[in-house]
Amino acid sequence: KREGRNSIRLFIKEGHLQEHIDEVIMEAELYKALMEDELTVYYQPKLNTMTKQVHYEALVRWFSPVLGTVPPLKFIPVAEKTTLIHEVTRTVVRKVCHDLNTRPELFSDSRTSINLSACLFEPELIDTHFVQVINEYKADPSKIEIEITENMLMKDPIKGIELVNYLKELGFRVVIDDFGVSYSSLNYLRKFSLDGIKIDRSFISQIDQLNSEKDISIVHFIIQLARKLNLYVTAEGVETKEQFDILTSLGCHEIQGYYFSRPLPIEKLEHALEHFFSY
Ligand code: C2E
Ligand code: CA
Ligand code: CA
Ligand code: CA
Repeated sequence: KREGRNSIRLFIKEGHLQEHIDEVIMEAELYKALMEDELTVYYQPKLNTMTKQVHYEALVRWFSPVLGTVPPLKFIPVAEKTTLIHEVTRTVVRKVCHDLNTRPELFSDSRTSINLSACLFEPELIDTHFVQVINEYKADPSKIEIEITENMLMKDPIKGIELVNYLKELGFRVVIDDFGVSYSSLNYLRKFSLDGIKIDRSFISQIDQLNSEKDISIVHFIIQLARKLNLYVTAEGVETKEQFDILTSLGCHEIQGYYFSRPLPIEKLEHALEHFFSY
């Protein structure tokens, strides 16, 4: 009683109440943000070191007038606990299609990848929130790549195989995001007809440090394996010239990371592209 209102803490594990309140507020704000069109999409260029071709990853951004800038790692998990993730995905797909249609010169000869949450695992959900939106905009599926994480496919591998095949029949490229972080990585390379893999940043970030032989060996192995299996390999989170040089010498097809470019709003993309030709 002495603690007044705070006495509720007695019944709830330390910190959990605040966490719960934060989540409820975030959920309510996100709902409002979707209504009021507060989400935007940034594009992070990825460079093919051989062909110099540039592709992009679309990454959602939320600048909330109430909460400030909320990183996706904070709000995507909240959206995934509810069905808001469906609306977030629709919004991202819609914005990417809009940009592809209105700025064709920026996206000629390139593909843009979109992250697909494990929550859209059902074919009907993918149809409603992904495929139909793309059809509405008459966007060309061959310009769109889908990034899915390993846990999504391994949740139910049989369904995962059907889903990948379905998306590929529709003409999308499908790649595995955050490759290597799960123990089942090698297993699904056998089972899924994928177009490529993205080596997780955790494997990349140390390769230019002293005593990095182990990390380099692992990355080398992943790249060789991928190339043998005819998979396109992207390294994510490349931040330094040393990392870039090592990855290029190991035969990695594509490099993504702050070394080239941070994710950018579409207005800044054009300028950034001019700068790329110096690499
Ligand atoms: P991810 O798919 O692995 O995306 C890569 C993340 O690494 C992005 O963070 C990107 O900004 C960041 N990054 C890129 N290059 C570098 C680098 O050189 N160094 C470092 N330290 N980081 C780098 P971001 O945009 O904050 O997104 C975080 C995660 O949120 C994404 O991880 C993805 O899982 C999720 N996410 C982002 N946008 C979407 C979306 O539209 N839909 C869904 N379902 N998830 C999304
Ligand atoms: Ca991704
Ligand atoms: Ca990733
Ligand atoms: Ca990652």
